[in-house]
Amino acid sequence: MNEITRRGLIFGAATVAACGVLVGVERVCLSAFADNQEPDDDPGPVKIVKFSDDGARLGVFTVPKVRHTKAEWKNQLTELQYDVTRRAATEFPFSGALYDQHAAGLYRCVDCGNALFDSNSKFDSGTGWPSFWQPIASENVREKKDFSVGVLRTEVNCALCSAHLGHVFTDGPEPTGLRYCMNSAALRFILRGSAAQEKS
Ligand SMILES: [Zn+2]
Repeated sequence: MNEITRRGLIFGAATVAACGVLVGVERVCLSAFADNQEPDDDPGPVKIVKFSDDGARLGVFTVPKVRHTKAEWKNQLTELQYDVTRRAATEFPFSGALYDQHAAGLYRCVDCGNALFDSNSKFDSGTGWPSFWQPIASENVREKKDFSVGVLRTEVNCALCSAHLGHVFTDGPEPTGLRYCMNSAALRFILRGSAAQEKS
């Protein structure tokens, strides 16, 4: 390993530690760590809270997990959505569609439609990724330790389909002090009121 490469890796690790991202080393990390990732250690069924498109809580439901083959996921998703949600990649900061989205609305899993976040817990973290201080329901996400880049982080997955969403950090604002640092590519935003307009 030459000195430039070594410095690059050290810088990469420092960046990951500071921001929880894979800036500049995304593809390297992908091929080294995430290629064979099958994040399904919970076969289900799972208990989730369902929400209508306008954010109303519909109750707790026990449902089978959403499962697809790699080929099916690839068919359903864009390349970026697949890399992020099924291979745990991280989109580049300030590149996604939702980091600067501040309208009222609901954020669903792009893979399975599970409700994940509400705009009322979104805040501008300045990181270039959509950031929330809590999920819409704790049942709807799974958190697990992630040591994939040599730094201990807490990965956040969709409880319903195991999609990788991002990571959670403890430097968020009150009242939770948490920062759910998500990928835009893992989320589908539903503007509040748009569901009602479509029906009428
Ligand atoms: Zn999902």
